[in-house]
Amino acid sequence: MTNSSSFSVVCYRTARSAMAREHVRMGADNGPERAEFSATVFVVTEIVGRTAAWDALSSTALKLMTWKNLRDLNSKGIAIGSHSSCHKDLLTLSSEEVVAEGGQARVALREKLDIDTKAIAFPWGRSNGAVREILARRG
Ligand SMILES: [Zn+2]
Repeated sequence: MTNSSSFSVVCYRTARSAMAREHVRMGADNGPERAEFSATVFVVTEIVGRTAAWDALSSTALKLMTWKNLRDLNSKGIAIGSHSSCHKDLLTLSSEEVVAEGGQARVALREKLDIDTKAIAFPWGRSNGAVREILARRG
């Protein structure tokens, strides 16, 4: 995990186990007594309300949620995270382009939804130490 004062980059597995610790309450004797699951929707900010063009590579491109859909979900307790600005493979970009992909997405989420997201899901699931460090410090 890489930390800065306000932004952390964690892998999916770490985030999932942290969510499980925070949101699942187990009864002492009877197994799960009550389970509260939280969810995070990761948004590609430049194509909100359009289609997931990358799905067309393997199936039909699905319609993506609008800003209104996202505001409604967020008001009901669903967290919103970044999935970058344009869904580019961050491993193919320069440092400055990685900063732009991460930074522009965070600015859009702040402007459109009034949130300061702490989470990013890497496009295509691809990252490395350099990308995570850049995003934690500057993106
Ligand atoms: Zn994706």
